[in-house]
Amino acid sequence: MELDDKLEQFKNIITNSNNIVFFGGAGVSTESGIPDFRSKDGLYNQKYKYPPETILSHTFFVGNTEEFYKFYRDKMNATKFEPNITHLKLAELEKQGKLKAIVTQNIDGLHQKAGSKVVYELHGSIYRNYCTKCKKFYGPEIIFDEKTGDVPICPECSGIIKPDVVLYEEGLDDETVSGAINAIANADTLIVAGTSLTVYPASGLIRYFKGKNLVLINRDATQYDSMATLVIHESLGKVFEII
Ligand SMILES: [Zn+2]
Repeated sequence: MELDDKLEQFKNIITNSNNIVFFGGAGVSTESGIPDFRSKDGLYNQKYKYPPETILSHTFFVGNTEEFYKFYRDKMNATKFEPNITHLKLAELEKQGKLKAIVTQNIDGLHQKAGSKVVYELHGSIYRNYCTKCKKFYGPEIIFDEKTGDVPICPECSGIIKPDVVLYEEGLDDETVSGAINAIANADTLIVAGTSLTVYPASGLIRYFKGKNLVLINRDATQYDSMATLVIHESLGKVFEII
């Protein structure tokens, strides 16, 4: 099928759906300029002695907190990035009542910045941070404001502050996962985009979908392409600008 026909089919699916769920990976944010640290041209940088998967692990956070924050402040500060056309169109679809939820693997908060309300952030968010001692929550300033020193410390109890993001070795939040499953299980259309579906738990979650249209939008082929109603290998922005 030609790309134009696929885009037309995509438009028709959106028009005829009333319970859309969008499942997005790193590819949704790369068009905002945020690098995917898992891709080979991503944010891995010779400057660091360890690969990002090591630094962004629970063990590393506990044992090398200062080094963790050096990397985290340098590479994970997405607060200055802006939503792209995909984020904005999805927020619009939610306002129209067509889209019921976004499930995302991204931690950059760009869906909320675009105006989306129901967002299941499987891997947490850089916008939420909590004291490991008294559990008080803080915004991103406490991490990214340089005046806070090397390791951010709770002003109330002097506990170490940890970003509310899921590090390697850590489990996902139960409520977030069950919310995502529930949304996917009730959807009539599931759009999976910007993910190769190899990262846990993406592949497991889409198995709950029993609706009509499974749409995959990704630059490269995935193992789920044969299951899909519609597969578009194109940049997300090019697809979403037509709706
Ligand atoms: Zn505290």
